[in-house]
Amino acid sequence: MGEFDLIERYFKRPVHSAVLGVGDDCALLQPRPGTQLAISSDMLVEGRHFLSTVDPFKLGHKALAVNLSDLAACGAKPLAFTLALALPRVDATWLEGFSRGLLALADAHGCELIGGDTTQGPLNICITVFGEVPVMAGRSQALLRSGAKVGDDIYVSGSVGDARLALEVFRGTLQVPAAVFEQARSRMDQPTPRVALGLALRGVANAAIDISDGLLGDLGHILSQSGVGARFETSFATDLIACRSNPAWSGCQSDLCLSDEQWLELVLAGGDDYELVFTASASARAAVLEAARSSQTAVTRVGQIEAAPGLRLIDGAGQLIDHRYPSFDHFA
Ligand code: ADP
Ligand code: MG
Repeated sequence: MGEFDLIERYFKRPVHSAVLGVGDDCALLQPRPGTQLAISSDMLVEGRHFLSTVDPFKLGHKALAVNLSDLAACGAKPLAFTLALALPRVDATWLEGFSRGLLALADAHGCELIGGDTTQGPLNICITVFGEVPVMAGRSQALLRSGAKVGDDIYVSGSVGDARLALEVFRGTLQVPAAVFEQARSRMDQPTPRVALGLALRGVANAAIDISDGLLGDLGHILSQSGVGARFETSFATDLIACRSNPAWSGCQSDLCLSDEQWLELVLAGGDDYELVFTASASARAAVLEAARSSQTAVTRVGQIEAAPGLRLIDGAGQLIDHRYPSFDHFA
């Protein structure tokens, strides 16, 4: 199978909202009047972001999910994406699984594949997504990292730390009951981009970011770009990791059990969750709950924005915790 047959077979789809899709030198998108395009790229590299043994269907899902997560964090509605793919060889079974996983998530979000590039080389997947954000009275409705205000509440969506738990089991640094591993692994392999929540938070949240490198590290980007600090209540944090309440823990041998410190570290420093961290003024609490309800996404209030720079971790007794949780950095 040649390059063009491959594109035709696995990646060419009829387009709906785009003006022109796969097949010409460029795709064409027509932004609707009163909207802006939100654009983001994310690259997945074998050995760095995934293992060669990963199920191609799940990899297709994840490659798009991490990109949709960026649109979610901006409160943008997904429109379309391009796919730049380097493949070591043409493997029909792999391509079939990959394209099915990719396009199933794309269809679920009404996000069309409109173009890309295909080349031979070490497996590498780079997606660029295009989303739509309304402009109202000359102001973009995009949620930005830079919008947090002193006094804002800080919230986290869904569950955090599970993907990292799975990674640590893979690395051999943790052992957990099999059922817990399965639960954690599905969070690592097939994250759920919080698109509906992001859309519901437009006009409600002041700032948002998605968690790719770790909760505290990513919250740190909101703080630095907004020129503020925060207090973070760690007593809520250990409830954020879904795997902790898996019934498989009951009766498990004690050497499998994690300490409170280990749980906390998974939640605060683990990456790859693709949940949203966002801030909203205290007067918007009812609106935040309504956004959570309408998007069927749990949210937990975990702290507050303060004027003094830096991030202060507070334990259940109100004491300051002295601990550093580094977030993931490819070059650190
Ligand atoms: P060009 O040489 O102009 O870059 P290509 O021959 O690389 O064009 O691609 C032909 C068409 O197929 C283009 O419309 C391009 O956007 C599309 N395309 C290439 N690879 C992919 C892919 N992996 N997924 C979707 N569309 C692709
Ligand atoms: Mg090309």
